[in-house]
Amino acid sequence: MSVLIVGSTALDSIKTPQAENPRLLGGSASHAAVAASFFAPVKLIGVVGGDFPARYVQLYKKHRIDLSGLQMEKGNTFHWSGEYEVNMNNRRTLLTELGVFEKFTPHLPEPHKQSAFVLLANIAPALQHHVLDQMTRPKFVVADTMDLWLNIALGDLLRLLPRIDGFVLNDSEAHQLTKQDNVFAAMKAIHRLGPKYVIIKKGSHGSILSSPKGFFICPAYPLRKVVDPTGAGDSFVGGLMGYLSTARGAIDANIRRAMIHGSVVASFCCEGFGLNRTTRVKRAEIASRVRELEQLTKF
Ligand code: AMP
Repeated sequence: MSVLIVGSTALDSIKTPQAENPRLLGGSASHAAVAASFFAPVKLIGVVGGDFPARYVQLYKKHRIDLSGLQMEKGNTFHWSGEYEVNMNNRRTLLTELGVFEKFTPHLPEPHKQSAFVLLANIAPALQHHVLDQMTRPKFVVADTMDLWLNIALGDLLRLLPRIDGFVLNDSEAHQLTKQDNVFAAMKAIHRLGPKYVIIKKGSHGSILSSPKGFFICPAYPLRKVVDPTGAGDSFVGGLMGYLSTARGAIDANIRRAMIHGSVVASFCCEGFGLNRTTRVKRAEIASRVRELEQLTKF
């Protein structure tokens, strides 16, 4: 089964204390789509402008990502720029140029509307609604978000939550949304807003799932060196959805392993700028890190 992924398709200019890399392939949907492509066929919904490099289209194609829902418009591609502090955890947005993203309305080609697995990657909640409005009867819908939407589009986001099965957000966003300091209390509060599955990401400390079958603590892969964590969260949820969409059996039977696979793909994302490392990963390398995580958490 394939995964439908909607989100931002961007050019990212990233600055770390070690290096500066302009106009890399980025965006929530790009990271998520490449991550999911290791496990399942992916259909990408997004928008790019005339300045979008042909080599990035080739990169999507190398991952056999279906681009029939990728709109190409006159104007510039969404350009985002961020700078990391020495600890590589704190990030400051330097620039956001919306370009063609400003007037983006996701249109789903007819076959996309039947998709069973849908990832609403980070994008304005109104656009996430617009995608769901076009779907026939998805089996499992997961949404991601960011602090910006909690600040400027909270109403849309709150209306989205009863429409989705799973919600993925980081711990500071969960705190902002629920006003709860305790992560487990925050998850309970988010269940009350709609989603049956809540995953709170804690960066290099992994993630926590709250589901009908209880909690699961998912470790992050222990990396000794982080080059650029941009897109790690998107890679996590992309890997998770890719894995889930092809796993046999119930969601509850597979979601923990899906998180582990997402966590492993996210670790590769952190080892290079933008998508540089992720696009070079081999399936055997993913399998090897999954086995390592299995050993690390056995007791
Ligand atoms: P993450 O590191 O998981 O927070 O994701 C970073 C990605 O989010 C980058 O590739 C950016 O292009 C993308 N991004 C940044 N700001 C926005 C925004 N306002 N809407 C959608 N995507 C964004």
